[in-house]
Amino acid sequence: MNEGRIVKVSGPLVIAEGMRNSNMFDVVRVGNENLIGEILEIHEDRASIQVYEETSGLGPGAPVVSTMAPLSVELGPGLIENLFDGIQRPLEAMRLKTGDNITRGISVPALDRAKKWHFVPRAKAGDHVQAGDIIGVVQENEVFEHRIMVPVGIEGTLTEILEGEYTIEDTIARVEAKTDSGTRVHDLTMMQKWPVRKARPYKEKMSPDELLITGQRIIDTLFPIALGGVAAIPGPFGSGKTVVQHQLAKWAAADIVVYIGCGERGNEMTDVLMEFPELKDPRTGKSLMKRTVLIANTSDMPVAAREASIYTGITIAEYFRDMGYNVALMADSTSRWAEALREMSGRLEEMPGEEGYPAYLSTRLAQFYERAGKVKALCSGERIGSLSAIGAVSPPGGDLSEPVAQATLRIVKVFWGLDYNLSYRRHFPAINWLISYSLYEEKLRDWFTENVSRDWVRLTGDMMRILQEEAELQEIVQLVGVDALSPIDRVTLEAARSIREDYLQQDAFNEVDTYSTLNKQYRMLRLIMSFYYRARDAVKAGAGIDEIFSLPVRERIGRAKFVPEEKVSQVYDEMEKDLEAQMDALTAKEDS
Ligand code: ADP
Repeated sequence: MNEGRIVKVSGPLVIAEGMRNSNMFDVVRVGNENLIGEILEIHEDRASIQVYEETSGLGPGAPVVSTMAPLSVELGPGLIENLFDGIQRPLEAMRLKTGDNITRGISVPALDRAKKWHFVPRAKAGDHVQAGDIIGVVQENEVFEHRIMVPVGIEGTLTEILEGEYTIEDTIARVEAKTDSGTRVHDLTMMQKWPVRKARPYKEKMSPDELLITGQRIIDTLFPIALGGVAAIPGPFGSGKTVVQHQLAKWAAADIVVYIGCGERGNEMTDVLMEFPELKDPRTGKSLMKRTVLIANTSDMPVAAREASIYTGITIAEYFRDMGYNVALMADSTSRWAEALREMSGRLEEMPGEEGYPAYLSTRLAQFYERAGKVKALCSGERIGSLSAIGAVSPPGGDLSEPVAQATLRIVKVFWGLDYNLSYRRHFPAINWLISYSLYEEKLRDWFTENVSRDWVRLTGDMMRILQEEAELQEIVQLVGVDALSPIDRVTLEAARSIREDYLQQDAFNEVDTYSTLNKQYRMLRLIMSFYYRARDAVKAGAGIDEIFSLPVRERIGRAKFVPEEKVSQVYDEMEKDLEAQMDALTAKEDS
């Protein structure tokens, strides 16, 4: 045991002496109330400690005891459907123990120690096992199978494995490892621990060449994110950020969702917490919580735990990735996280960088996002998992030139630029196509060609080009009016309007429109673009634009998004036929 004494308290920062034998990042217990803290810095025997709980009442002379272990999370059955704070304390279990006002210094383990889980072995005595090998599974709830893996650092022969109802602390298997000095026996349980600031290891990172399907048209079609990719979304107030995030949580093709509510106002987080259990998971018909882990550190909770929360979240996400799942992690918001970092840095009296943020802000952000990816997991055979990370940035005043947004944009590969003006016009999702980008788009072209259609790349390229041309044409229209445009340009403007209204606008609250399969996206794209191509030809053949724009099929195109998936094929075939016939009739008239 290594005990020191507090010499100074400054908000969440405590300075203690007599800490010579402790290490950086050790977890410590502070004061007589045993508050949880973590060592940020050590100079000789003086440690700077960030305390994860309210420090009022702490004073010089109070004891500080190091646990000699880094801040770690517990990984095992019981994670799913749970709600933790930034240092993985289970909020509901704590509330049951202490009431609504969480008392300080209480110890409630992250995962329930009493609950029994039915462990079903997937390996047998005599098998050679190594880190990451799945030795058994626990059906954690109706939808989620928890795969129990051999912890990192253990390799040997499985000498015993049990089946039945066990707690996460019971031994369920035994591994004998040969070492230089004889045999070493490891008792395995269903739980393992991992230090949050260290990325969990994998065999190999793979190229992000597969789409993370989200069913959100503007995202999949124009600004796609790869499985294992990293994206940022800014959140000017009222621009629809929450709805986009909920849509992604509900619909993205991920087995597991880890949602980190980081420093946002308590009531916003409450929205998430209230809504998630109510959200029906479209894939299972059950509550979305059945494949979700929530981490909540709202703005009224201590700032240091907020700093830790994104590491806690991503470590849990990596653990599910290692099982071979596709995990989507959402952090809302990384700006509030960076503010916590700034506050601690200020109290440590470090040299401030831009706008008071520490110089290591971008390194820390990069280290966080680097933990995303599609990987070959550690194990004897081959298993692939992915962790896609989506971070919200909410700069004060929506100003993307400030340091956190700038650092984020240098790291992430996708940017969905939410735009207040679009949401004001009730264009949802309010992702501005002129400022958004996806650096995966090129890498994903082969994927789209193989999995969706050979003309996908051409159609989406044309779609984007029309939208850009529209922006230029609109400047001309502002100056000289729409009548000054050539008929071809009028067609472009009309196609752009149709793309915006009939395609990009997607109603999250409409039962059908809320999700579009890639097949439906492709068929819509083809339909809307066919109108454009045919309209251009018709103009060239001499047809009048008023006639073209008033073709009866246009009204049906406007409602095409509401065609349910099972009818898409038939109804879209009809619409395409009608479009062809009506265009043919127009041009035939001109010819005669
Ligand atoms: P923010 O989190 O940015 O403050 P919200 O996500 O709560 O904003 O969105 C504000 C409102 O905008 C929502 O209550 C909803 O009425 C509307 N909205 C946002 N996105 C959509 C969408 N995709 N479809 C329909 N309505 C939307």
